[in-house]
Amino acid sequence: MKIRHDIHTHSLLSSCCYDPEATFENYFRRAKELGHTVFGISNHLWDEKVPGASHWYQLQMINYGLEGARNSTPDIPGIKFMIGSESEYCGMTDTLGMLAETAARFDYMLIPHTHMHMKNFVIAEDPDVKAKRAELAASLAKNNPDLSPDICRRMANSISFGDIEAMIKERTVDVVKCNSDFMYESFMKLMNNTEFKKLVKTVPTSVAHSFHPCGFNREMTAKIIRAVSEERLVECFELARDMGVFIEINTGAFTHAATDYEGEELIRVFRIALGCGCKFTFGTDTHSLKGLDDIRRADRISELIGIEEDDLAPHVRG
Ligand SMILES: [Zn+2]
Ligand SMILES: [Zn+2]
Repeated sequence: MKIRHDIHTHSLLSSCCYDPEATFENYFRRAKELGHTVFGISNHLWDEKVPGASHWYQLQMINYGLEGARNSTPDIPGIKFMIGSESEYCGMTDTLGMLAETAARFDYMLIPHTHMHMKNFVIAEDPDVKAKRAELAASLAKNNPDLSPDICRRMANSISFGDIEAMIKERTVDVVKCNSDFMYESFMKLMNNTEFKKLVKTVPTSVAHSFHPCGFNREMTAKIIRAVSEERLVECFELARDMGVFIEINTGAFTHAATDYEGEELIRVFRIALGCGCKFTFGTDTHSLKGLDDIRRADRISELIGIEEDDLAPHVRG
């Protein structure tokens, strides 16, 4: 099926977007050229009424995202423009980065549950990494008696997760299981979060890049997704269906170089979601003007899963 919408896009208002061409004006023009009937911009936002924003999210403020957008939404016949947001859900603390009353100011919401690259914010570091940091802090303190234990601890904590992980000789944690369990648990916790329940009744809401673990290489990504059992997926998707929560299919979560997606783990995941009667929204998750063209991958992806017009969420139907 030709997909005629894209509602997961980041413009220059998201501080992770570096393409000077990624302006609202350019996005709207290209969306029309691509034949979209529905197009949305969904910058990263954390509601400042919710305590606990990470340093990065503190800069992604509601009025900044919203007012910039409202001023430049054009009126072009045949295409509906929407302003949404990709907010955040931190599974480790059960914190939703958006209040329902604030979400009401937007046309739709995307809530991710798998920003697993955001360690100690979305997901806790695993015990092996924690132990390695402690070991490092102790050895720094031992070898540098002029440094306080607190400084040594901070030095050890400032090293990236990836670098610490590379120093671990033998893993005691089953990394695949640990991360696949997290994806399942965070999805279920999100569905049961009190504020989320209010939010989905306020504005059309999709779970952004459902069951795509962010921050892993291709091989690990596939293993982690494969480790989520059908039984668990059915439990999650039936709940989402009953709550009227939509499932996002994010073309950025599929292997970029692939010419076909049949072997991708996410095809299995979304076939199960379709079997459960879920409704879908599509998005490229682009951070550049050129990336909007990736929506054409969604044509083949939707075909492989078996998605038809009726399986789309009402707000993205043309
Ligand atoms: Zn995301
Ligand atoms: Zn995104």
